[in-house]
Amino acid sequence: MWLIRTDILTAFQNEEIRSSIPRYISVVKDRLPALFLISSRFPANRSSNLEELWSLHDELMNDFWDFVDSFDSIELPPKPPYSLLDLKAEIAKKILTSCELCERRCLVDRTSGELGVCRVGENPRVATYFIHMGEEAPISPSGTIFFSSCNFRCVYCQNWDISQNPKSGKLANPIELSNMFISLRREGARNINLVGGEPTPNIPAILDALRLTEVNVPIIWNSNMYLTPESMKLLIGVVDLWLPDFKYWDEEHALKLSGVPNYTTVVRRNLKMAYKARGEIVIRHLVLPNHIECCTKPILRWISENLPNALVNVMAQYRPEYKALRYPEISRRPTAAEMKEAYEEAEKLGLRWRSVS
Ligand code: SF4
Repeated sequence: MWLIRTDILTAFQNEEIRSSIPRYISVVKDRLPALFLISSRFPANRSSNLEELWSLHDELMNDFWDFVDSFDSIELPPKPPYSLLDLKAEIAKKILTSCELCERRCLVDRTSGELGVCRVGENPRVATYFIHMGEEAPISPSGTIFFSSCNFRCVYCQNWDISQNPKSGKLANPIELSNMFISLRREGARNINLVGGEPTPNIPAILDALRLTEVNVPIIWNSNMYLTPESMKLLIGVVDLWLPDFKYWDEEHALKLSGVPNYTTVVRRNLKMAYKARGEIVIRHLVLPNHIECCTKPILRWISENLPNALVNVMAQYRPEYKALRYPEISRRPTAAEMKEAYEEAEKLGLRWRSVS
């Protein structure tokens, strides 16, 4: 049985939330179609050549937002023989043969059994999926799908049994994924929340599944945001709400604690890409102990300067898990004083943080 959270019931009346993620709310309420449904109605031309597919894609995206603006209800025209969504799915499949879906850029052929850093094969494995009542108020109840495995190696991962075990869960093909989307929405989910592990290695299967889905439901990208610009371009016009982590400001800390190079450069670039493309965004910043000056404050400052309309969840729930006790500086929870400093900084910068933290 669901526990009732009153903040979930009243979330869409909150002015901070309403003004930050208006289109997402309209899709949740079935007043506007989800972006993937609009993409599936936008006619496109076919090609077998990747370079040509990209040029067709980029040309179509120039007119895409005008097409989006032409919808004022969830009534949709019939599907064309080939659509922008088909084209995006085809590009994603081609990338899989020399994978550069994320900035690891492993260039392995995942269609012939080769594995990259994420160790995800051609089809995703789903560790679990259910209606999550513990997400931020405007997001819960959330139709959350946990993909197995990850391209990061965070030493404090709280989902490490899923993210660091590529064999966890069950293989799911696009038809099965689509059925999960449909059943979660029918059971009352406000959205489909794609998470893991990490959803990025599964972009081809996700796009394919969306081609088969005719239920109106907003798509949430709940990610470490370490995508290539190419993957970002495929998701723009499909993702209704971005739910990125922004963990570190210092590149050395990202390398040490998550095993990932150029982290902050990549995340900042992708956040700007999403924001520029009308992205509605809820950023999650997990406050790490002893990282207030080096990471929390510069991240919050950067958000205030670059993404002023984004909602920001300043998260207090860090606890040392997995291998964290081997790293003295993160071997405890953040103190009340550290959290106070983080909240005061968010307030001082005028961030939209109160409604989702
Ligand atoms: S998605 Fe996986 S295989 Fe592809 S580039 Fe990233 S880590 Fe490598």
